[in-house]
Amino acid sequence: MILFNNFKKHYSNNEPDFSRALNRVLHSGWYVLGQEVASFEREFARFLGCRYCVGVASGTDALALCLMACGIGRGDEVITTDLTAYATIAAIMQAGSRPVVVDIREEDGLIDCSKIEEKITAATKAIIAVHLYGQSCDLGRLTVICKQHSIRLIEDCAQSAGATFSDGQTGAFGICNAFSFYPTKNLGAFGDGGAVTTADQYCYEKLLMLRNYGQKERYYHECCGINSRLDEIQAALLRVKLGSLRAGNQRRSSLASLYRSSLTTLQPLVCRSYGRSNHHLFVVKHPQRDAFMRYLQNHGIQTLIHYPVPVHRQKAFPFQKQEHFPAAEAFCQQIFSLPLYPELSDNEVQRIIEVCNDFRKKDG
Ligand SMILES: *Cc1c(COP(=O)(O)O)cnc(C)c1O
Repeated sequence: MILFNNFKKHYSNNEPDFSRALNRVLHSGWYVLGQEVASFEREFARFLGCRYCVGVASGTDALALCLMACGIGRGDEVITTDLTAYATIAAIMQAGSRPVVVDIREEDGLIDCSKIEEKITAATKAIIAVHLYGQSCDLGRLTVICKQHSIRLIEDCAQSAGATFSDGQTGAFGICNAFSFYPTKNLGAFGDGGAVTTADQYCYEKLLMLRNYGQKERYYHECCGINSRLDEIQAALLRVKLGSLRAGNQRRSSLASLYRSSLTTLQPLVCRSYGRSNHHLFVVKHPQRDAFMRYLQNHGIQTLIHYPVPVHRQKAFPFQKQEHFPAAEAFCQQIFSLPLYPELSDNEVQRIIEVCNDFRKKDG
């Protein structure tokens, strides 16, 4: 069986480093917001070329905290894409704001920037740019739109750790930007975790309070915050993982190139030339998607759909029910994701390619 992800393999390949980090924390007697978190924040900020990083409890919290740090909440509208992990929407609602979604481009699954401005109203306060599958949105275009309308740009980098736009890392363009360290992400922890990055000192200081029930000094509360802290164990393990993020993304990149040059029956998404993807997911299209996935399952290859239902069709999303999102609708009917991670062996990728290329219509 070729698994969709293989976390055990990553752990056993690097066991001594993880054990050392874990033991250091267990022996330290300090488990929440300590030296490991501070060091990870410094190291991740340096990696991104962004001034500040604040460790938090999850990617969803990171997004909600981005909005809170910008003073965006009740009565405000936040524009984002119709195709994302539902967490993006949940975070907007957690902050008390109203999500407004925009259709995608069918060739890459990213927000269609030409359809954003028709959604901007007097209540619009921010755009959340989701760098889906590890490919950056057009941050140049988004920056211009945000400037013209005096609204905030926030990046959802949950899937894009290490991806670039132009000559900068994603997570260094918005006023505040969110990362997730959920285990499946390219920079994944051994549990939940997240971070906000910002170059803005006011936002940074606010975020330090917001993640820790609004306290600046212990027991002195300046604003209404939440409990969303990164713990020392996750931070120590993330420091180890950060050391291999670049190499891991490079390995993903060469496997993705092999897929692209070898697959004959499946259509990969378009790669944009304005940046470098981190190849978080390898998404392909096929008109007989369900049959293709069943065929691969029967040949011992796991696949998943990211995502089967666009935001506007979700039961939990009561808005925009009269609107049409033809690109997202069509996209979600055809896509699925092949296994792609650094621990995938050359033989496994060759086997996946052979099995895919042997698919015949009658297999459906
Ligand atoms: C994973 C993910 C999130 C949420 O992160 P959690 O750490 O699971 O809360 C948000 N947005 C996107 C695009 C994601 O992929």
